[in-house]
Amino acid sequence: MSKNKNILQDTFGRDHTYLRISLIECCNLRCTYCMPEEGVQLSPKSHIMTYEEIYDIAKIFVKHGVNKIRLTGGEPLVRKDFKVVLEKLATLPVELSITSNAVIIDRFIDVLKTNNVKNINVSLDSLNREKFKHITRRAEFDKVYNNILLLVKEGFNVKVNTVLINGFNDNEIIDFINFTKEHPISVRFIEFMPFDGNKWDMSKMVSYAEVMNYVENSFSKEDIIRLADAPNDTSKNYKIKGYKGSFAIISSVTNPFCDSCNRLRLTANGQLKNCLFSSTESDLLTLLRAGRPIEPAIEKAVKVKLKMRGGMDSLKKLEKPELHTKNRSMITIGG
Ligand code: SAM
Ligand code: SF4
Repeated sequence: MSKNKNILQDTFGRDHTYLRISLIECCNLRCTYCMPEEGVQLSPKSHIMTYEEIYDIAKIFVKHGVNKIRLTGGEPLVRKDFKVVLEKLATLPVELSITSNAVIIDRFIDVLKTNNVKNINVSLDSLNREKFKHITRRAEFDKVYNNILLLVKEGFNVKVNTVLINGFNDNEIIDFINFTKEHPISVRFIEFMPFDGNKWDMSKMVSYAEVMNYVENSFSKEDIIRLADAPNDTSKNYKIKGYKGSFAIISSVTNPFCDSCNRLRLTANGQLKNCLFSSTESDLLTLLRAGRPIEPAIEKAVKVKLKMRGGMDSLKKLEKPELHTKNRSMITIGG
């Protein structure tokens, strides 16, 4: 391998500078679109990366150009040694961020601040206590809602991730946007995506176009401001004139952002996934444990990355359940 070769560049010229690391396969919520009703087959504990292994693998990615790491899961904060993982990763020259359901995040405010975590994405799919309970199968609405307000008060950049499901929470789109009136948060509406066991079908998805329809029917044209999207941004960003926060739409299904994709994913059991939708994985952990170099496997995985959505490059293909079930459930990938 030549020294100057960028092993994180794929055959479409995309440089992968962003690594999402799943810390755990377990969660303290059971969101229906993420966790199958019957649960998931968890990896044996001995197959889950230790904090040293997470650090060793991350360090290699950083050496090759990764400058952003997001910790996710499952619920990353329920990992017992979360603090240690964070402290180790904070020694690397990267921007660290986290995606959490925020149920217990109030206990981690100092740890997050000390380790320079500024950007926090929190999942919240309903502003209604009963609906929250229905979708997450847990009665934790008050904790999550109050913790979102706490994070804002403590000065974090907070994005709220809302997976829209037709007939369930699409009637709350405007309530969520109005939530940004007084709070400087960004609500991101996510198109419901298909994963193993989540009973996806196209009719349950609320598309980008449908969200904008709701928005245009509720606010005047002059008040809907299109914001500039950051490079490699997966969302189309907007705000309502005079509102403190903003909103965005992540349209992985109807309008994917694969052309500018810079992401790789490392699962909690040490498998590299070159795409959220890809069914193939590269086992970095076994190589690491055997004392073998992991760079060739990383390079190979990046080189075989397909142009769009792990090969599901049309809505027709996405609609074929036999293709989704080759992939994992979202809870064990790390969104
Ligand atoms: N537990 C954390 C949380 O909920 O934020 C982190 C892990 S969760 C898998 C990461 C993100 O994936 C969440 O924002 C969740 O809404 C999103 N997600 C899970 N399943 C999804 C699906 N089927 N379609 C779209 N987004 C999904
Ligand atoms: Fe847990 Fe997050 Fe999945 Fe909900 S979306 S079940 S909070 S991992």
